[in-house]
Parts: sequence; structure tokens; C-alpha cells
Amino acid sequence: MRANYHTHCQFCDGRASAAAMAEAAAAKGYGVLGFSSHCPLPFPSEGNMELSRLGEYREEIRRLGREWAPRGLEILLGLEIDLVPGYCSPNDEVFRGAGLDFAIGSVHYVELPGSGRFPVDYGGPEVEGFLSRYEGDDPGKAMYRDYYRKLGALVEGGGFDILGHFDLVKKNNGGYGRPGEGRWFDESSPDYLDAALGVAGALIGKDIVAEINVGGMSRGKAKTPYPSLAILKELRANRVRITFSADAHAPEHLGANLDAARELARAAGYDSVAILSGGEWTEVGIGET
Ligand SMILES: [Zn+2]
Ligand SMILES: [Zn+2]
Repeated sequence: MRANYHTHCQFCDGRASAAAMAEAAAAKGYGVLGFSSHCPLPFPSEGNMELSRLGEYREEIRRLGREWAPRGLEILLGLEIDLVPGYCSPNDEVFRGAGLDFAIGSVHYVELPGSGRFPVDYGGPEVEGFLSRYEGDDPGKAMYRDYYRKLGALVEGGGFDILGHFDLVKKNNGGYGRPGEGRWFDESSPDYLDAALGVAGALIGKDIVAEINVGGMSRGKAKTPYPSLAILKELRANRVRITFSADAHAPEHLGANLDAARELARAAGYDSVAILSGGEWTEVGIGET
């Protein structure tokens, strides 16, 4: 069965209505579509849902669920929830009491020295500007270490089902795991892999599914899915289950680049993906996705 739990719509930074996304999922043969709007944050953020719209969001997703269930598409209510230590966590009461079917836990923000924070998935020039404010001669290293520290804290804290885009911090780096090719850091260096694989280790025995996320590819921002093959192999060795995520921000992202996801999964040794349907997680063969 084809399923996607990472779907944005106009309640956050998606380009289409939830109804249009459901329509597209049905047309592409999906059996399950989970909505995962960017959660409300207690500070200004362009791409996130306003807290005041959370009830309206729930109503609309539930309405679509009733509309599509008879036509074979199960629609689930979720959120993509940030860990911003001291500000926002999947364990916050506002999310735990929101009646969600599932949650994605993600880290987008790292500390900006001196003041506040910045999202590592901003455009390259913006991130470059933020990095110029770091002290020391290796701002790229400071950024990825901070990112993976937060990702590790997210995994330890739990309160979510799916770990979002494991190595998002590489988004603008352009290294694609090849030695010496990264703009700010070497994705094949022992220090980088130590930081990333440490989080893969923290997932052992946890009830958390990791995603192969092709959202960056579908939007022309990345040439490969998240995570890299080296990280995915470690996840496989640690018996962490995976799901394929479109991280869709527009109808055409649903079903796009699935071949790349399947190919990467198989290269890492996976032959099945986890599916949440009818309130339960099960496994289906990659060939059925
Ligand atoms: Zn995200
Ligand atoms: Zn997302």
C-alpha cells in the first residue's frame, strides 16, 4: 500500500489546500495520507501554523477523512513538531492534547550565537549569513554539532512517531556524502559521522520510525534524499524501521521521486517500510509502495 505521512498544505507553508492534496493523493493511488502541518511556535516563523488555527485544521482534516474513507483513502491527522529547547517540544500539552493520529518530530532550528536561532533549511545565502556570525574557524562544524545535539535530545525526549529528515543540516551543504565536496563541512568526515551516527544509535529500541524524505529533491533543493546512505545503513543495522516521505508542499510532490526512495532503501538493506493504518503500524514490502 502506498502511504505518506509528511504532507503540508495551506495551514502552514504548503501551496495547496488540504482538499487539493487529498485529491492528488487519491489520483496517485495512495491508500493513506497523513497531514503534518508545521506546528505552531511561540515565536514568529513564516512557515508555521498559527496556534489559533489548530482547531480549524483538525476539523478540516477530519472532514476530509469522512469524505475520502468511502473512496479508499484513509486520511490521518498529524503535525510536524519542532524541538526548540525551552520553547517547543512534541511533549508540549498543546500537542499531546490535540487528538493527533501521529506526529513527526523534527529539528529545523539551531542556535544563532548571540541571539536566538535560525532554520538550517533556509536558503543557502541566508544560512551563509547566519554562519558568518559564528565565532571560531569552523562554523559548519559548530552548526552540525548543534543540530545533531538537538536531534539526539528530540529522540531522547520522544513524544512522536516519525523522525523527520534525519540529516536536514546538509540541505545547503552540497556535499552529497562525497569526501571534500561539502561547502561548509565534509559529510564523510569522522567527526560529522560521529555526530550523525550517535543519533542513529540513540534510536535503538525506541518506537520511532525514520523517514526517507524526498521533499528536498522534489523541490529541486537536493540531489539525494534524506538521510544519506551511510546514515541509513546504520539505521538498518540498528533495526530502525523506515517510511517513505514526500514532505509534499504541493500536489505534484505526492508520488514524486519514489524511485529514489526505494533505491536508497534497498541499497541500505531494507526490503519493507512501516505503514500506519487503522491505528496500527505494520510492514509492507517495498515493491508494494
Ligand atoms: Zn521539516
Ligand atoms: Zn515537512
